[in-house]
Amino acid sequence: MHSYQRVEKDDVADISREDNNVFRSLAMLPAKMNKKADIILISIVVAIVVLLITMTLLTSQDKIKQENTHNTSTFEANPTISNLYLNSLLSSQFNSSIIENDTTFDRIERLPDEIKPLHYEIDLQPNYQQLYIIGRSKIEILCLNRTDRIVLHKKDIDIQRMAVYGNGLKYHILHVQQDLKNELFHIQLDHHLIGGHHYQLHLWFKSQIVVNRRYGFYRSYYQNRSKQTRYLYVTQLSPTDARMVFPCFDEPSMKSTFKLSITSLPGYSALSNMPVQSYSILPNGHTLVSFATTVKMSTYLVGFVVSDFENLARYSSNGILVRTWTSKENIKQTQDALKLATAYISLFSNLFNITFPLPKLDLVAIPDFAVAGMENWGLITIMQDKLLCDMQYCSMRNYASTASVLAHEIAHQWFGNLVTMKWWNDLWLKEGFATFASQLGCKFMNRDLNLCRFIVSAAHENAMQFDSSIYSHPIHQPIESQINIKSQFDSISYRKAASLIRMLYHYIGPSSFVQGIQKFLRKYEYGNANNHDLWRSFTEVNNLINVGEVMDTWIYQKNYPLLTMKIKSNMVNISQSPFMEGRVHTSRARWLIPFCYMTENGFIQRKLIDLNGSMIPLPPSTSWIKGNCNRTGIYRINYEIDLWQKFVDLLQQQPQYFSSHDRANLLDDSYYLSRVDLLNVEIFLNMTRYLIAEHDYEAFNMGILRLKFLASILDEPFKQKAKKFILYLLRSNLYQNNQVDEYDINKIMMKVLVLRMASWAEYKPVLYQIKRAFQRWLHGYSLSPNLVPAIVEIGVSIGDEDDWNRVLKRYYEVDDDHSKKLCMKGLAASKNPKLLKRLLEIIMDEKQVKPDQTVQILDLIAKNPVGTDLVWKFITSHWDQFYNRYGKEIFSMPKLISLSICQMKTEMQLQNVELFFSYNKRLQNYKRLAEMEIERLRLKIRWIHRHQQQVQSWFRNICRELKL
Ligand SMILES: [Zn+2]
Repeated sequence: MHSYQRVEKDDVADISREDNNVFRSLAMLPAKMNKKADIILISIVVAIVVLLITMTLLTSQDKIKQENTHNTSTFEANPTISNLYLNSLLSSQFNSSIIENDTTFDRIERLPDEIKPLHYEIDLQPNYQQLYIIGRSKIEILCLNRTDRIVLHKKDIDIQRMAVYGNGLKYHILHVQQDLKNELFHIQLDHHLIGGHHYQLHLWFKSQIVVNRRYGFYRSYYQNRSKQTRYLYVTQLSPTDARMVFPCFDEPSMKSTFKLSITSLPGYSALSNMPVQSYSILPNGHTLVSFATTVKMSTYLVGFVVSDFENLARYSSNGILVRTWTSKENIKQTQDALKLATAYISLFSNLFNITFPLPKLDLVAIPDFAVAGMENWGLITIMQDKLLCDMQYCSMRNYASTASVLAHEIAHQWFGNLVTMKWWNDLWLKEGFATFASQLGCKFMNRDLNLCRFIVSAAHENAMQFDSSIYSHPIHQPIESQINIKSQFDSISYRKAASLIRMLYHYIGPSSFVQGIQKFLRKYEYGNANNHDLWRSFTEVNNLINVGEVMDTWIYQKNYPLLTMKIKSNMVNISQSPFMEGRVHTSRARWLIPFCYMTENGFIQRKLIDLNGSMIPLPPSTSWIKGNCNRTGIYRINYEIDLWQKFVDLLQQQPQYFSSHDRANLLDDSYYLSRVDLLNVEIFLNMTRYLIAEHDYEAFNMGILRLKFLASILDEPFKQKAKKFILYLLRSNLYQNNQVDEYDINKIMMKVLVLRMASWAEYKPVLYQIKRAFQRWLHGYSLSPNLVPAIVEIGVSIGDEDDWNRVLKRYYEVDDDHSKKLCMKGLAASKNPKLLKRLLEIIMDEKQVKPDQTVQILDLIAKNPVGTDLVWKFITSHWDQFYNRYGKEIFSMPKLISLSICQMKTEMQLQNVELFFSYNKRLQNYKRLAEMEIERLRLKIRWIHRHQQQVQSWFRNICRELKL
């Protein structure tokens, strides 16, 4: 599963020369890619299947014998699953009781280990009008230890009949009990099941089709070109909502095979994990679709999509059928995603040395989805705009995002699906690896586009920022309550884990790394594993270090190390302590650190830093030593002041002396060390002077956005000086040749960033050009997809109410997601509070704005300085509405909590936040996150208070020196 990405507003731009009207030519650049006419097969697979399979009618509608015996339910001996149609479902025929102390914070109760599911046969007969599902399942179970009870999961499901068979016996059910807190269903039998024997559990049940929410089996929707609402029906069962659709042993280690069938509407197609095996037309015109039996897998990976979508199809080079699905009107826009997906299938099959285990992979664009993508085995569901990324129309940034999400979900087909974590406390095993594998995928697949760098850099930075709080948590932590499972899906499990794996990759080397991965996947395929199993696989192929011993120090401790390097004589003393914002370092955490360092004569060396630190010899004839080569380690380094000064001078004198990763690393570390008062902020500020010669996005973005933050804390006259200095830094990029190679993502990102920053600094020639370009866009001219987001946002921000209304009108008129999103980003950039308030009302209307978009737009408005407080007030005053809408989703609520607070800077704002959190009881699920955000804001305010004067003086002096 992949979290949706924050819509970055501040890190992207472009510009043109004041005396040169080339901006228009920039904005009018043709589409990027010379599209080769790859032959895309418009899939006729369903039709082929239709021709090949035998039309089967259900020959029997065996009436289920309903023998009522005293407090038991009984059925005919071992009925088959073909008994699909139940004309009516009877009320419970057994004693039942409910444990109702429903609090999600109590200690979670796991399934007992006496029973193991082997195979499910599940028939689902949804009533798409009445929004419920009549279901029936037969679960083949293996008794591991003698027991007289069966315990499985169910939530919001009525089990109306059940039966247990085995050893030629029919077991009587004495009573059942529903444990609401743990979502467990206990079935008490009259006799014991015997260890080592197989049994069949038959269940007849009724579950719900969820509406206006995005989990379980839910109804999604879109509008076609005729503005008619069309529905589709989709599953989102991860992590623990399979139990909402069918009763099951809903833990990742309870792997089984599944034989699934579902009835579909006329004119609709049904998809699941496996290809269609047979289908039959029912008397009511619906279609009963049966799918081939799955491989052994976990319940959270089961998937269905019932829709009127069409598809494009293509075979990967290793013969796997890959299809992309969306509405008829949009289907051609999935061609580029389809090409990427087929390429990734082949890439990962080769990299992992295991062929994709299923005969097909479907990727379905979901118009209303709570996560960016979900890796259901063989049936990836994905946010619509990620799949509809036609390079002719979408920006390189969007393309990079699509490439990243696709690679992530496809990597999951091995990491997570083929080998699954034993329990949710090792979630990072699948999410960290899928994130890292997606980085590798982008690196190999899109080498020419260089997409990987930006994806890696953003993830690494995000992880280090999140993990510097005292309220962070270890990668591996116990799951104590139900809510803990969902709260695991955060930056630590995804991005820090990916950075950790990347650090290991660089330390043991690509060859050992890939061998270790292949060994691990082969050993545990179709099974479950934990972190120890993975470390063992690495150690077996690389006996130079004990990988488990090293990695355990990283996954069982929160935060990351700060290394302090001091040169004495010819030795460098490296000590370590935890890096943590704002607290006296009482933590005793220590790490075994895969360390890399380099010196001025090109000497590069790796060394494992001990728990108590290490000494390394300083090579002769060198005047400096820099650690964390290419920013591949998760640690910060503090050098002695002379060495920091040396780096400042080196960057000034020879800007390209270090790699762009190392330049970004020096800017990043010097800035964060100043934020914790371990380094004078002037070191960072002095270092930024070299940015006038920086043409690489990673380092430029790192420095310029931090300068922008520092400018934002200053009193007005000094803010103007800061803007002058930043404009000075933009100069060389501002006057660069405007003929951007639209294949070169670095140049594109730099242009957009420079454009945004020059506008922010109120550089009139740029504002003038943007205003013109914006008016052209309003009049229907098409602009370069890479530049148009910045043009529309800046255009609205400097425009008037009429402009805003015209963009809103455009929003209602356009059909495609990308255009709608573009308009919304523009609307969110207005500097008029009245218009922003109007926008806040509009985005809550689910008929106009999809709920997943609502959160992203709130994030954009909060980033707008005029909108930060408006959004906070709006979210807190509509808290119950937000909670009801998003409370059960994984990513939305944490984002809603954080998006305003992380933009705040004042004591008054802090007080409002503290007050809200102190009385809002419905925040308990997110207590740690709230505490983290409050602490971070408190520290930020304290830092501003202490350093504002110094920063102001620095900007005043630099402007004086440079005569700005
Ligand atoms: Zn994932």
